[in-house]
Amino acid sequence: MGIRVRSTLLDALEWVDYAFQPAGEAPPDDVAYGHQRHSATVVDDEANVPPKSCESDGIIGLGARPVAVYTADCLPVLIADTQQRRVAAVHAGLKGTLAGVLERAVIRLCEAGSSPDGLYVAIGPAIAPCCYELGEEMLSAIAPTLSGSQPSCWHREQPHNPLAVRPQAKATRNGVWFDLPQLATLRLTAAGVPAANIENVSFCTYCMAETGSSYRRNTHFNSGYQSRFSWIRRRGG
Ligand SMILES: [Zn+2]
Repeated sequence: MGIRVRSTLLDALEWVDYAFQPAGEAPPDDVAYGHQRHSATVVDDEANVPPKSCESDGIIGLGARPVAVYTADCLPVLIADTQQRRVAAVHAGLKGTLAGVLERAVIRLCEAGSSPDGLYVAIGPAIAPCCYELGEEMLSAIAPTLSGSQPSCWHREQPHNPLAVRPQAKATRNGVWFDLPQLATLRLTAAGVPAANIENVSFCTYCMAETGSSYRRNTHFNSGYQSRFSWIRRRGG
């Protein structure tokens, strides 16, 4: 049994069922999820029944079928639309976030008549700034695509994580410590989602989650990794 991570915001919505599953655990049988490509493509659930029928990094749940994403260090982002009672699961790594996958999911939900202030968002287990070093060359490549608030997205000094259960990543490239959940939060608030409606569970896949959670840790220690499924659905028929 892995660690069960919960979102206070989503737990407060009685019509929503969801899970941030531990790495390596199979998702529900009737789940829909796309063939993920770090893109900004968002589709409706039926386009990915059976799973991986098409390429997508965001999936909208129109009914009671669970929609999922699989991740290692990228952000699994679960969204509940309290106005239309629809849900979405989004795979948001650095590339997909910069490509606009989160905004695309917000737009798709709002096309059905909702407004961004009715959306509740949980950012699940992902690599946190305590362990996510980016080289300066990467930063200068992506900086132009960030808006004016980007300095809050990284730290010069590696943040200490007091909740780490194993050693944090060691610096290898004299870079910066990037806060991908913070970038996602900024992009979502810019799209109109109130900050109070966004929760980051702050659970680092590298230094806090069960063994085999982190793609990056695997590249450092050859420790192996498995996908983590995160899913969400509307309760009932
Ligand atoms: Zn960490």
